[in-house]
Amino acid sequence: MRVVDSSALLTTLNSRLTTHDPQLTTHDSRLIMKCPFCSNIESKVIDSRLSREGDLTRRRRECERCAKRFTTYERYEETLPLIVKKDNRREPFDRQKLFQGIARACEKRPISVEQMNAVVDKLVAWAQDSGLPEIASTEIGEQVMNALHDLDGVAYVRFASVYRSFKDVNEFMTELKDLLAARK
Ligand SMILES: [Zn+2]
Repeated sequence: MRVVDSSALLTTLNSRLTTHDPQLTTHDSRLIMKCPFCSNIESKVIDSRLSREGDLTRRRRECERCAKRFTTYERYEETLPLIVKKDNRREPFDRQKLFQGIARACEKRPISVEQMNAVVDKLVAWAQDSGLPEIASTEIGEQVMNALHDLDGVAYVRFASVYRSFKDVNEFMTELKDLLAARK
């Protein structure tokens, strides 16, 4: 991931293009969007689009505390959420790692690299559109499973068995039965 010091640029853009300057602070080399009215850091994304400046994403946000709305301009790199691992460690969103996990599940299956890349693209777009600063790795796993479920039954079961580490054979069989029923 490219490290960009864009706070100065963003501040300039914000003062030029918006009425209110969202306060930008750096945390783990990422920008946290603070509400310019009450400094709350939790906000939901109402609208998201690529700005004319190219790799900047313009986001309309609503503060979850005071419900006021403001606009932010975020670098592409910063629009991907951090991944929260099961042990609470934070990791950057890793496209390559995601692809490798999917490729492993699809090994020797009639699935092209193009199709695997399409799954990754879909997941990256989903993570970006969420506008969330962080996403649990378990949630990413669920998304991968959903995507593989639609793509290939065997790849799905492989990924699910590693990912969910089924507690027993019964749990696995239930999952398999559901899958086979859905295929009919
Ligand atoms: Zn607020």
